[in-house]
Amino acid sequence: MKYPAPPSVIPLDNILPDEPLLMMGAGPVPIPHKVAYANSLVINHLGETMNRVVDQVKTMARYVFQTSSAHVMGVSGPASAAMEMAICNLVEPGTKVLSICNGLFSRRLAEMAVRVGGEVVRLDVPDKESARPEVVEAILKGGGFKVVTVVQGETSNTVWNRDLVEICRIAKSYDCLNVVDAVCTLSTMPMEMEEWAVDAVITGGQKGLSSIPGVSLIAFSNDAWDRIERRNAPMAHWCLDARLADQFWNKKAYHYTAPVSGVLALHEALRLVCDETLPARFRRHAICSAALQGGIEAMGLELLIPAECRLNSVVGITVPDGVSADGVRHVMSELHKVEISGAFGLNILRIGQMGEQSRTHNLFRTLHSLGSAMRAVGGTVDLPAGMAELERVLASNAVRD
Ligand SMILES: *Cc1c(COP(=O)(O)O)cnc(C)c1O
Repeated sequence: MKYPAPPSVIPLDNILPDEPLLMMGAGPVPIPHKVAYANSLVINHLGETMNRVVDQVKTMARYVFQTSSAHVMGVSGPASAAMEMAICNLVEPGTKVLSICNGLFSRRLAEMAVRVGGEVVRLDVPDKESARPEVVEAILKGGGFKVVTVVQGETSNTVWNRDLVEICRIAKSYDCLNVVDAVCTLSTMPMEMEEWAVDAVITGGQKGLSSIPGVSLIAFSNDAWDRIERRNAPMAHWCLDARLADQFWNKKAYHYTAPVSGVLALHEALRLVCDETLPARFRRHAICSAALQGGIEAMGLELLIPAECRLNSVVGITVPDGVSADGVRHVMSELHKVEISGAFGLNILRIGQMGEQSRTHNLFRTLHSLGSAMRAVGGTVDLPAGMAELERVLASNAVRD
């Protein structure tokens, strides 16, 4: 047998930039050294060491989700896999689902529910607004809904569903399970799963938690677990079957080979959250994001979303007429080695404030780069005024790192 010649490729070192780009977009975000180191290790997925790691991951995740539920699990896959796990376990053919849609990611939950045969009603929230509880209630009154899906922060357009707590309360009063996408928000702002009566919380690694992409977390409430145990329809998914996953996460048995390196990384990311404590972490994120937003506005740029429903964990910026968002991003990454995000189709820029992104040294570098790049592509900004405002907000709140 004659094999064709193997492809000739260049080594990774020659592809990667000499200086890693500062990842200030909508995720993935920079990871701490301890997370990177943990991610470089491989251990037995069923040994005693792994058991201890898994126990601690669950304990720490319960703190981060603010739940005492026994049904907290890691998911081998992107946050979208955790979303799919929530949906495919809680939605059966014919289950009536209300999907509150603010943008790309919340629409993804709706689509997943349709794909597993759910009878999905979409509430399309107007642009630049939070979902309104009274509108949700008016639809639920129609009767028969069993699941409500909603996003805490819609990363794609930087809207925050400020009335999430009220929406969850209403949904529960109509006997619905609440599925909340907290991918970009978890550990950057309050998410009190038990207190708010949330039934499934989804998060990814590469956003608020500052871990690697591809290993995610999900937590189910006891109500959600009851629904899963009583489900009639067979599960089409095998990897995402929550009852099978429970075998590994709660019974130390084999389901599939857990992504051990990624779980170790998640362990370290969660440990750093616990070390910092949630209140301190929320405060750091709130102040850093406020300082960045203040700096952007002081430069003369406009933020995309009105203050009352603006997400803190990803900040959207309206790009002035005649300036290309892609042009700005190009200059920022080529010249300043700072990477921020555009948006799916809109002429806006998005700067992340998740986990390690919310550090003062990263803010100074990013805001300066943004202003400088805006000028370079023909925009008009007051760069010194922006930097001064960033400095002022940080100093007045005594944030040092
Ligand atoms: C990033 C993100 C997702 C999807 O995460 P993947 O890891 O890309 O699957 C879902 N929801 C929200 C709110 C996000 O920010």
